[in-house]
Amino acid sequence: MKPIILVTGANGQLGSVLIPALRNRYGTDNVIASDLRGRTDQEERFEVLDATDEDRMTEIVRRYGVTQIYHLAAILSANGEKNPVRTWDVNMQAFLNVLEVSRKERIEKVFYPSSIAVFGESAPLENTPNDAFLDPLTSYGISKAAGENWAKYYFVKYGLDVRSVRYPGVIGYQSDPGGGTTDYAVEIFHYAVREQPFSCFLNPDEKLPMIFMDDAIRATIELMEAPKESITNRSSYNLAGLSFSPAELTAAIQKHCPDFRVSYTPDDRQNIAAKWPNSIDDSAARTDWGWEPEYKMEELVETMLTNLRKKYE
Ligand code: NAD
Repeated sequence: MKPIILVTGANGQLGSVLIPALRNRYGTDNVIASDLRGRTDQEERFEVLDATDEDRMTEIVRRYGVTQIYHLAAILSANGEKNPVRTWDVNMQAFLNVLEVSRKERIEKVFYPSSIAVFGESAPLENTPNDAFLDPLTSYGISKAAGENWAKYYFVKYGLDVRSVRYPGVIGYQSDPGGGTTDYAVEIFHYAVREQPFSCFLNPDEKLPMIFMDDAIRATIELMEAPKESITNRSSYNLAGLSFSPAELTAAIQKHCPDFRVSYTPDDRQNIAAKWPNSIDDSAARTDWGWEPEYKMEELVETMLTNLRKKYE
């Protein structure tokens, strides 16, 4: 039986790529996109849903006979720091609603995206292990870490099949980033293809873990389709793609765009990035459900430039 999937926060950077991937796999009518506002280009099933509204979520789940929820709705790291208490309220209330609705309506599986933002000063910066101590320093990171604990709580207490990965910075040409600390790694490509100089908000040597969009989407679907017994981690899996600094990314882009220039004006986001891992140990995901990233630096840069050039033509 094909799942009937509700996706919250579907209009965002990840959702706008995940929705077509899920529809392709499970059928257009089996995937209900939802977000705070409708989209003018949205012709398929879409519901306006504020994920902090439990009654509305329940109504949609019942109406469509939803069997799985992918909960993407959140306020991201950099945006979240503008109003930390609101970020906590929205992120926690929305996820607790997803968990409660799932428990009451007997949802089969829930996907919860966590983040490398759960790590703080106690975690080793290189090859950060899955079970490193979590002492996040942003409101967003605190909410994601708490969400991981709630995910495990609902699995242990109610048997709810919640699955989660800690995404690194996601890089794609298909959609715009939504106010995170790794957004520079998408924006830089837009400037390169338009032949404009780019001002980077991180230090040139601030190395961070990243993942190409296609890998991130594939990881999500592979995790959700893995046999239940193979999921031994019920808080969240580390997920790695590749790691690089702004200077390394710039050099890789300059191989294709020799005149491209980047200057560095670090802002508050540099302080957030400094506390995040440089690279991630994702061996648990590899062992448990066979995770293997495909995109390395050169392939990522080529794919981004080629597709964005078409977009700007
Ligand atoms: P995004 O900011 O691009 O999109 C989030 C979407 O959620 C937006 O469309 C927004 O309108 C919606 N939203 C916000 N509050 C809502 C609410 N109360 N109810 C319903 N919708 C609401 O984010 P994204 O990059 O697509 O990220 C998706 C998920 O993945 C998030 O949970 C995020 O924390 C996580 N994540 C993303 C990255 C990344 O690099 N993009 C990295 C780590 C984790």
